[in-house]
Amino acid sequence: MNPYLKTPFATPYNSAPFSKIKTEDFMVSFIESMDQARAEIDAIVENLDAPTFENTIEALEFSGEQLDIISSIFFNLNSAETNKTIQDIAQEVSPMLSEFSNDITLNKVLFERIKTVYDSQNELKLSTEQLRLLDKKYKSFSRNGANLPEGKKLKLREIDKKLSQLKLKFGEHVLAETNKFEMLVTNEDDLSGLPEGAKEAAQHLAESKDLKGWLFTLDYPSYIPFMTYADNRELRKKMALAFGSKGFHKDDLDNQSIVLDIAKLRFERAQLLGYKTHAHFVLEERMAETPEKVTEFLNELLEKAKPAAKREFKTLENFAKSLDNIDRLEKWDGAYYSEKLKQKLFKLDDELLKPYFKLENVIDGVFTIANKLYDLNFELIDTIDKYNEEVLTYKVTQSNGDLVAIFYADFFPRPGKRNGAWMTVYKPQFVKNGVNHRPHISIVCNFTKPTKTKPSLLTFNEVTTLFHEFGHALHGMLADTTYPSLSGTSVYWDFVELPSQVLENWCYEKEALEIFAKHYETDEMIPMEYVKKIKESATFNEGMQTLRQLSFGLLDMSWHGIDPSKITDVKSHELEAFQNSKLYPDVAENCMSTAFSHIFQGGYSSGYYSYKWAEVLDADAFEYFKEEGIFSKTVAGKFRTHVLSQGGTEDPMILYKRFRGKEPEPEALLKRAGLIK
Ligand SMILES: [Zn+2]
Repeated sequence: MNPYLKTPFATPYNSAPFSKIKTEDFMVSFIESMDQARAEIDAIVENLDAPTFENTIEALEFSGEQLDIISSIFFNLNSAETNKTIQDIAQEVSPMLSEFSNDITLNKVLFERIKTVYDSQNELKLSTEQLRLLDKKYKSFSRNGANLPEGKKLKLREIDKKLSQLKLKFGEHVLAETNKFEMLVTNEDDLSGLPEGAKEAAQHLAESKDLKGWLFTLDYPSYIPFMTYADNRELRKKMALAFGSKGFHKDDLDNQSIVLDIAKLRFERAQLLGYKTHAHFVLEERMAETPEKVTEFLNELLEKAKPAAKREFKTLENFAKSLDNIDRLEKWDGAYYSEKLKQKLFKLDDELLKPYFKLENVIDGVFTIANKLYDLNFELIDTIDKYNEEVLTYKVTQSNGDLVAIFYADFFPRPGKRNGAWMTVYKPQFVKNGVNHRPHISIVCNFTKPTKTKPSLLTFNEVTTLFHEFGHALHGMLADTTYPSLSGTSVYWDFVELPSQVLENWCYEKEALEIFAKHYETDEMIPMEYVKKIKESATFNEGMQTLRQLSFGLLDMSWHGIDPSKITDVKSHELEAFQNSKLYPDVAENCMSTAFSHIFQGGYSSGYYSYKWAEVLDADAFEYFKEEGIFSKTVAGKFRTHVLSQGGTEDPMILYKRFRGKEPEPEALLKRAGLIK
């Protein structure tokens, strides 16, 4: 192994030694780190002493440290600074890593030891965090069938294999359907309403296929602008029908039977493991706990948001009627007339706001806010390695000088960086042998680049994105737990967006904007009428949006929260699930489930509700800040002590109640969204 890749690194703060790593070194390092981790597991398994929390659970938790560090460096590079060699290594090493972790989960002797500790937990005098770790380790085995007799174990593997094939097929069909559709426009009049950028892109796409005219597809960058701006209603309809009928053509790309099979196999799998339904299985490890609670949550919001949604729909309908004499508002009219109405009401565009959001000012702003709330200081340092010279590196300290974290920030798009924005970890926080190892946290974004004449000026959306990712980063940086797998953002899925989303709220507050929203040339504060407009436009048609999100969550639960064996027809099942939330007339040719990749291909099954769940949490938490002042040290202190520092060491509802003094209620969200007064 490259000696520089051995942890602890011989670097300041034990930071990743990017300049010393040659890409070719990774494979050797992976293999040797896996061997080392295997040897550590073997030592636990072969220990002749009776299993204890320390010699089994804790030993397992701290095994494979070298492998974890190498993996995080490697996969972070694969996201932010990749190349062909890195991608090839990723292809090669990914199956090796999943085999490695499968070997652990299927290790019977190891599970026996864990089970012995688990079964005797009441006599062990363990701390809350230790109990939590024990539970997590035990469940990572039991939820994969470790407790089942051999025959049922085989059955489970069979179901898992079938499920992964079906999910793959589902995704392939959706992709093929997306790629199959093309709409070539040859008459420029049919492009009326579209912005220049969208026209140009469509023309380039046509050219790339040796076609004359403008080509539109079902890919979002092509589809969304068309549905939002194109005046030609017939063509919008054509696009919408194609988009909404993916996997629903009764041909070889049809997903109806796959949807039914996936739902049934998931149910069977859950039953095999002793759970009532798939949703019960999933929600066991979520803050929401049970399908009953999720359904009740969604329905309560639905009832409260419905009057506003209906009002908004009526307004939109009247607007379309007055503008174009549209009698019945259809699905392909929604985005189009919403945009027109929004423009009429707010006349707010990015170019107007951008001069007030120079990147450097926004960064200073978010650091100042972190200082006001948590007494944190950010010092730019150039003493540690970075993987690209654009990356900024900071030493984060408490006002007494104690090191809190190392923070990396990587803001601009480059070839080799994937799209989007994310927070990630190079090294988690943990305590070992009495030493509190501080974390190394990074945020990666794709913001507007500076030009020769202009600095980087952010859109308002980019500003909230920066706050969002920085909120995740605070969760990572302020972690203060013993075990790395419970540290920082290692929390239940429906809890992880609380720290990120809550911080976005500061972007809408006058007191916070005064700190950083200054014109980059004149230093003039952002005019308050803009701030007012930003706030108002943020809640525009929020009732309709809310209903839409809730309907997806309810559809998800309708597939996974029951015994699906009675469902025979996908479309009629879906109609029933949408019954209570629909605004637009149904389109018979369309079906949502056959292309609902989030829940049938990705990992969101029984989890779609968590978007709204997290919003309820963040609005409720921010209301507490507003009550006491958005820079209240008391509220911030509680948030840090009970939420940010605690990671996954306790049940999130308990942590939340300790911070807030009560359970979260949806009223704050409904108020913020303008749905109730
Ligand atoms: Zn997030």
